[in-house]
Amino acid sequence: MLQIRWHGRGGQGVVTAARIFGRAAAIYGGKYAQSFPYFGTERRGAPVTAFTRLSEQPIRDRSQVYEPDCVVVLDETLLESVDVLQGLRPGGILVLNGSRTNHQGLKFKLPENTAFYQIEVTSLAQEILGVPIVNTAMVSVLAAVTSWVPWEAIKKAIQDILPSHLVEKNLRLAEEAFHRALALRQVASSQGGEGEPNSKSKGNLHLPADNLQPNLPTPHLVARTGSWRIQRPVIDPWKCNDCLICWLFCPEGSIRRGESCTSIDLTYCKGCGICARECPRQAIHMVDEALISQGEGERLAGIS
Ligand code: SF4
Ligand code: SF4
Repeated sequence: MLQIRWHGRGGQGVVTAARIFGRAAAIYGGKYAQSFPYFGTERRGAPVTAFTRLSEQPIRDRSQVYEPDCVVVLDETLLESVDVLQGLRPGGILVLNGSRTNHQGLKFKLPENTAFYQIEVTSLAQEILGVPIVNTAMVSVLAAVTSWVPWEAIKKAIQDILPSHLVEKNLRLAEEAFHRALALRQVASSQGGEGEPNSKSKGNLHLPADNLQPNLPTPHLVARTGSWRIQRPVIDPWKCNDCLICWLFCPEGSIRRGESCTSIDLTYCKGCGICARECPRQAIHMVDEALISQGEGERLAGIS
């Protein structure tokens, strides 16, 4: 039996990713499969976990997956607050969506002989879908690096599960992600591994395992909802008239009336975007965190 654990954030489609992979295996891939979520805090931006099991035999185990063969992480910021590697078996696979090349100071250690694949698909999702939702992309990446489920089966399951108006763009995203991941696997193979999952190959292209140190997150870190954010609200001071309607709607109480203007407390802002939707003057723009760190936030928000 193969067990997969999916990590993402509320609103990123983690549960749907687990369902698509399971359906592809069971209905179109000739296997038995199970997929189900872990019901924790179900809020947009909150860490969410889901599971998929695949087997050649009927699956009787209905428990959560505690010792996965594979962990798929849809959002690299989770590495700062969730022990995504917990229970990952030696010789297992870690598939991470992210672009960071320096993971020093993070809190986990890769188990022995882990095949590690890092790929950045958030910008691809933003480009094709117009939103940073990467579930179909990461399902396709997993199919490409493991070959556990045929690619044609993944496409059919996406068509079955997604609402019809989302299918075309998600298939385009999935196809592009699949081919990029296949290329990644070939590079991993040429770097000394055999290119097959659960062999002793290492697709560890960006992240030296030694950079991941064992430790568990401290409680205060988990409670800081600012670490959930993948997009940041940026207020245009030229449009904002300090009416504080955004403050009324913010579920985290992250909006402050400063001395001269309204501001956002990024320690707790989880990036849900409600303030941007409710602002009557369209003074708040949601900007990708990755672009903010490159100093591009204000330009992208159209603030001059
Ligand atoms: S709702 Fe818009 S205009 Fe009003 S304070 Fe918030 S950002 Fe400014
Ligand atoms: S400041 Fe805006 S984006 Fe941040 S938590 Fe509040 S409503 Fe959500």
